[in-house]
Amino acid sequence: MKKIKSQFYGIDFVKDEKIQNISTYHNKGHVKCVFYPKNSKQLIFLYNLFSINKIPFKVIGNGSNILISPKGKNYFYISTKNMRHYIRFNKNYCTINCSCPISFVYQKCLANSLSGFENIAGIPGTIGGAIKMNAGSFGSNISENIEYVKILKNNKITKIKKENLNFGYRNSSFKNCLILSARFKLIKKDQNTIQQVFLKNLSLRSEKQPRGYSCGSVFKNPQHYSAGFLIESCGLKGKQKGEAQISSKHANFIINKQNADYQDIKYLINLCKKEVYKKYKIKLKCEIEII
Ligand SMILES: Cc1cc2nc3c(=O)[nH]c(=O)nc-3n(C[C@H](O)[C@H](O)[C@H](O)COP(=O)(O)OP(=O)(O)OC[C@H]3O[C@@H](n4cnc5c(N)ncnc54)[C@H](O)[C@@H]3O)c2cc1C
Repeated sequence: MKKIKSQFYGIDFVKDEKIQNISTYHNKGHVKCVFYPKNSKQLIFLYNLFSINKIPFKVIGNGSNILISPKGKNYFYISTKNMRHYIRFNKNYCTINCSCPISFVYQKCLANSLSGFENIAGIPGTIGGAIKMNAGSFGSNISENIEYVKILKNNKITKIKKENLNFGYRNSSFKNCLILSARFKLIKKDQNTIQQVFLKNLSLRSEKQPRGYSCGSVFKNPQHYSAGFLIESCGLKGKQKGEAQISSKHANFIINKQNADYQDIKYLINLCKKEVYKKYKIKLKCEIEII
């Protein structure tokens, strides 16, 4: 399909954008239209425009936790990917806008000898996406160091303090709103100590997790169990449908080997759910969001 790059009120948009450009699953197909605001002003303008006119749309960051279905192809998307990164430090505090990649934030914090992002630095998402998902790894969640989150809802910008926010396991209370930025309280630490933790986590990640197109863990871990273990023990490791495969390295990852489509990935998701339920009577819940 021909890609049309254009501008709307000075905001870049791409008609018939490839899903590969907005989701790390890289599944086949195109979505109707993706807007790429360059700053918060453009982002807010679009968000209000779509909300007020009740146009089905979705704000996305790096697309590292979303699987776009045939229904999702008809949405309008606002991607924060091309926005200017904004991060400002004040003593032990830092204010970060939604579009900043977590890895970028970690590097900046390290340069300022501030600890708080080294456990989650390997997560390939943006601050907005990570807050929405309460992303976490190696025993830490992004919500731990949050002081407040600035959001746009019903055309009003508000700062919500941590004590008024509900974070759960890969879950938050941010529904029908735009996350604009957040302020974090961090801890002064020696740069070497921060970096050692990061490097240890990085090597554990590459040892345990597969490479290739994916959205990380497909399912949340049920209480007392690891979803990967349950799937593996049903003999599903390496199972393939089309060009999608349950990773033979980590059974909670579904990899798009090259050109898988939504149906291939969805088939494997359903297969894992069915087999795990049959064997353990446990209902697996998706961590990834199917749009
Ligand atoms: C290889 C790999 C490893 C991963 N490892 C981990 C891990 O260890 N731990 C973990 O928790 N996750 C992991 N993930 C999943 C993913 O990276 C995280 O969930 C991440 O936080 C998603 O951020 P994103 O910017 O890509 O969000 P997206 O996937 O773009 O969006 C996720 C959700 O956030 C919403 N959203 C995004 N930006 C905004 C905004 N500004 N305002 C309002 N809503 C917004 C979207 O609408 C969507 O509902 C991994 C993914 C991959 C590919």
